Amino acid sequence: MENVCLRCGRVLKNKKSINNKYGPVCESKMLKEYYSKRQITIDELLKGSAMNGGMDKSL
Ligand SMILES: [Zn+2]
Repeated sequence: MENVCLRCGRVLKNKKSINNKYGPVCESKMLKEYYSKRQITIDELLKGSAMNGGMDKSL
């Protein structure tokens, strides 16, 4: 079976990419997406917790 990137379907040639199941480009894109989503979430959490006096039981 061929090892292909789960995101774009390109054939993965190096062990690290095969291990990750994503090529290096897709991996960095996903990391950026992940952190940008987290930043928005954290930002919203901070705004919300600031309005709630800094207390957030969900954390
Ligand atoms: Zn890819």
